[in-house]
Amino acid sequence: MIFPESTEEVAKAVAACSAYRIPVIPFGVGSSIEGHLLAVRGGVSIDMTRMGKVLDIRAQDLTATVQAGVTREGLNRELAHTGFFFSVDPGANATIGGMVATAASGTNTVRYGTMRDNVLSLQVVTADGQVIRTARRARKTSAGYNLTQLFTGSEGTLGIITEVTVKLHPQPEAVAAAVVNFPDVKSAVNTVILAMQMGIALARAEMLDSLTIKAINAHSRTTLVEAPTLFLEFSGSPAQVQEQSGTLQALAEEQGGGDFQWATRPEERSRLWTPRHHAYFACIQLRPGCRSFTTDACVPISGLAECLSETVADIQATGLVAPVFGHVGDGNFHCLLLVDPGNLEEVREAEGLSHRLMQRAIRFDGTCTGEHGVGLHKIPYLEEEHGAGAVELMRRIKRALDPINILNPGKVVLVDGDEGRN
Ligand SMILES: Cc1cc2nc3c(=O)[nH]c(=O)nc-3n(C[C@H](O)[C@H](O)[C@H](O)COP(=O)(O)OP(=O)(O)OC[C@H]3O[C@@H](n4cnc5c(N)ncnc54)[C@H](O)[C@@H]3O)c2cc1C
Repeated sequence: MIFPESTEEVAKAVAACSAYRIPVIPFGVGSSIEGHLLAVRGGVSIDMTRMGKVLDIRAQDLTATVQAGVTREGLNRELAHTGFFFSVDPGANATIGGMVATAASGTNTVRYGTMRDNVLSLQVVTADGQVIRTARRARKTSAGYNLTQLFTGSEGTLGIITEVTVKLHPQPEAVAAAVVNFPDVKSAVNTVILAMQMGIALARAEMLDSLTIKAINAHSRTTLVEAPTLFLEFSGSPAQVQEQSGTLQALAEEQGGGDFQWATRPEERSRLWTPRHHAYFACIQLRPGCRSFTTDACVPISGLAECLSETVADIQATGLVAPVFGHVGDGNFHCLLLVDPGNLEEVREAEGLSHRLMQRAIRFDGTCTGEHGVGLHKIPYLEEEHGAGAVELMRRIKRALDPINILNPGKVVLVDGDEGRN
């Protein structure tokens, strides 16, 4: 393991590994969940956490430049007194470098976009130990191929990101949060879709099914009604927030939603939203000792209600314990398939369900992974999603940027020498 403190140290380490053909696996805080960090061919782990400096905050340009090991919470602490914030929030306190590498997103993506929308420029160490910069700080550019986006989502397989320039957003003047429950998942999802189609600028729109709410009540000692529930947030000027939240309430009532809880003061909003942030850990505790298969389907929003309904029916047919929740404003949802790892029949049932879900997402013209990335586990679905030609092009890019296949080998796309190793 190496703990570099500068880009130069990363470059030296990669050049040495290249000379000896040793695999190199960059490590952020290890919160990825698709086997991204497994050293399938051994190698050197480059732990980026000592590259934790915020280098430059340019509030007048709405940009910040950080070393790749800075965490999102660390960056937001530095920004606390500027009136600006960094928006991407994948739940875990991930590094900015890891978030670029996985093209992360989260609860407020519906308003502010994913990591792809919020990264302006990268400094990258390439497979032969060279240091490059992908772009300058301008908010847009037409100059050459878009290397920033090529490295975003590359999961450590094309280069090691050492510095990142991200976009900042002004803190909104007013924020309101709401929690509302529905008779079924479909009406909860339809409320969000209708709101988006009407142009209501939701800041967050999360749906939790009744099993997730049951888990939350047990975990966080809340008394939420155990029904499909939307957690919502609106932001803007006080007048905009009032207008948007009023329209949303009317839409929700038309869909059978009721029992609204509202909050505007920061501590009340936090009380209302904290249970949502604990959803993953609450669900895991539904079956102590279980292992969770986490799925990450994402479909165009018009197909979301149908895709979710088919998935819920599929879960019921298997009899598996599988809470469902998601960033429904983005068309993205997760089923946590909770299985006893010692029960092979259950494990096979969960693998089958997960497989059908990924195929269903692709059938709805969506993707097998909206935000977690490919890692090891989603490799078999890339060709189904993109077609053989596109995946072959990805392989050619991998070979061109990493000809001896030392950068996180065996992940995303398999190239010469990877087959049979995973
Ligand atoms: C409870 C829970 C909830 C989650 N919810 C979400 C969510 O809502 N949205 C979401 O997007 N994700 C979510 N995740 C997944 C995870 O938090 C993200 O994938 C995150 O972006 C990973 O960042 P990390 O710093 O932990 O990277 P790591 O896990 O350390 O690394 C992830 C990948 O990026 C590569 N990498 C890391 N740093 C660099 C670098 N500097 N240069 C090049 N490659 C690098 C690694 O080699 C690896 O392939 C969740 C995870 C958990 C455990």
